[in-house]
Amino acid sequence: MRIVLIGPPGAGKGTQALMLRQALEVPHISTGDLLREAVREGTALGKAAKDYMDKGELVPDQLVTAMVEERLQRHDCRAGFILDGFPRNIPQAEDLSAHLAKEGKRLDGVVSIVVPRVELVERLSGRRVCSQCGAMYHVRFDPPRQAGVCNRCQGTLYQRSDDNAETVNARLAVYEGATAPLLAYYTSKGLLHAVDGSGTPELVFTRIREVLNSLQASPRS
Ligand code: AMP
Repeated sequence: MRIVLIGPPGAGKGTQALMLRQALEVPHISTGDLLREAVREGTALGKAAKDYMDKGELVPDQLVTAMVEERLQRHDCRAGFILDGFPRNIPQAEDLSAHLAKEGKRLDGVVSIVVPRVELVERLSGRRVCSQCGAMYHVRFDPPRQAGVCNRCQGTLYQRSDDNAETVNARLAVYEGATAPLLAYYTSKGLLHAVDGSGTPELVFTRIREVLNSLQASPRS
């Protein structure tokens, strides 16, 4: 299946994508993760992206789109993919659909994860991420058994540098301005499925599975 996950920062896209990756056996492509890796490795892309990311702004479309297209061409995407964090605006969505159309493919569905804004800020400020496996925790709502250490792989947990109050507000504003218009865009294409993102990750996952099951039962003609 070819699925896009849309939602504001803190909606749980990354957590759901990790669970979906196992269930659907297709790769999880997070543009945020790919860009952070490029920054860590000090590549030309990473150097160009860093300032935008630190401010919570979008990295220019042509850089991100080229990175995603290169990733989608890899062999493991032949059976499908879960895109997390891309597209982030309408030009990116149009580039994605043109790229897929060139290969005779298209998206099966777009899942929008809906969470109230107050909850997003609370989730992001306490979020911790495993530096090894990417598993996510929350210092209050879902703490690891041992502070600072991943339950699954014993990796070290860290706080993303853009999960501070100032950058979180900038990221939420970018979501409202640039990304939220995608909801109407994908609705008009008959692709959008809104899912309530409140409750435990398992509960949200069940809701998303229901949507995907209905898509599998009646694929687009
Ligand atoms: P995320 O991990 O999805 O919250 O992304 C972290 C940061 O990476 C964002 O605040 C942007 O600066 C950048 N980024 C991720 N995906 C995109 C995208 N599709 N377009 C532009 N910038 C992006």
